[in-house]
Amino acid sequence: MSAILEVKNLTVRYERHVAVENVSFSIEEGDYAAIIGENGSGKSTLVKSLVGLIPPFAGEIVMHGMEKREIGYLPQSTIVQKDFPASVTEVVLTGCLGNERRIGPFYTKKQKKTAEENMELLGITPFAKKSFRALSGGQQQRVLLARALCATKKLLILDEPASVLDPVVTHDLYTVLHKLNRERGITVLMVSHDIHCALEQAKTILHMGRSLLFCGTADAYYDTELYHRMTGSCGEHFANHGHMGHAALEHHHAEHQNGDNQTERGESTCM
Ligand code: ADP
Ligand code: MG
Repeated sequence: MSAILEVKNLTVRYERHVAVENVSFSIEEGDYAAIIGENGSGKSTLVKSLVGLIPPFAGEIVMHGMEKREIGYLPQSTIVQKDFPASVTEVVLTGCLGNERRIGPFYTKKQKKTAEENMELLGITPFAKKSFRALSGGQQQRVLLARALCATKKLLILDEPASVLDPVVTHDLYTVLHKLNRERGITVLMVSHDIHCALEQAKTILHMGRSLLFCGTADAYYDTELYHRMTGSCGEHFANHGHMGHAALEHHHAEHQNGDNQTERGESTCM
C-alpha cells in the first residue's frame, strides 16, 4: 500500500484567523478515513484546502498518482445548493467538467456515458430528468455523490454527507460508500459530525481541533482519553457548550503534546 495523499505541516488561514494549524498526515490508497471534531474545528477548511478551494497559508498537499482536479468532492450542504435549479442529469454532468475538455457548450459522449453509469450505480436514473430541487435530501445526496464520482476513479472527499439525512437513508449512503471503497478500490475521506458513526464506518480516524489531535486506526482511537472525553460527556457538555468543549480539547491537545504517544501528537502520520 502507498500513500495517495500527503499533507505536510499544513496551515490554513482566513485573513488573521488560523482555522487549520500545522497539520500533517497521509492517507493510504484504498483507505476509508473519517475526519471528526467539533463544530468550528477546521474540518471543512481542511478538506476545502485538499481539493484546492482554499490555498494553504503554509505547508504542502502532495497527491500521488493523481491531481487535485481528479478528486471527487461532495461539499457540506447549503441551502443554496439544495435549491439548485437544474435537472438531475445536469447536476451529475457538472462533475465531469474537471476531467476533460468540453467541446463548445456540449458534453462529450464519454462524459455522458460516465454520468449515466454513475446515476445507474446510485439508483437515481429514474429521476434523471427531474429538477434537483424537487428531490428529497437523500436523493439529492445520491445525485451529489454521482456527481463526485464523475470527477474521480480514485479519491472521494465528502463533507458531512449524512448530516441532512434521516437514519435509514444514512445507512443506504454508507452502504454505497463501502461498496465503492471495497469493490472499486476508491479511497474515501469523509468528514463526519458523528463520532460513533465514524468509528463504525472508518478504518482510520483523524480528529481535528484546529491542529490534528489524533490520527490512527479506529481501534486505537477507542483507547484514547480524547475518545472518552468526547463521548463521556457528549450529550450535554459538548452539545450545549461548544466553546467550553473546544477549550477542553485545546487543553487536551496541550497535554498530549508532552506525552509520549506518537499518534496523539499534532504531527502524527497515519499508518
Ligand atoms: P468545521 O467544518 O469543523 O465546523 P470550519 O472549517 O468550517 O469548521 O471552520 C473553522 C474555523 O474557521 C471556524 O472558527 C470558522 O468560524 C472559521 N471560518 C470558516 N469559514 C470561514 C470564512 N469563510 N471566513 C472566515 N472564517 C471562517
Ligand atoms: Mg464543516
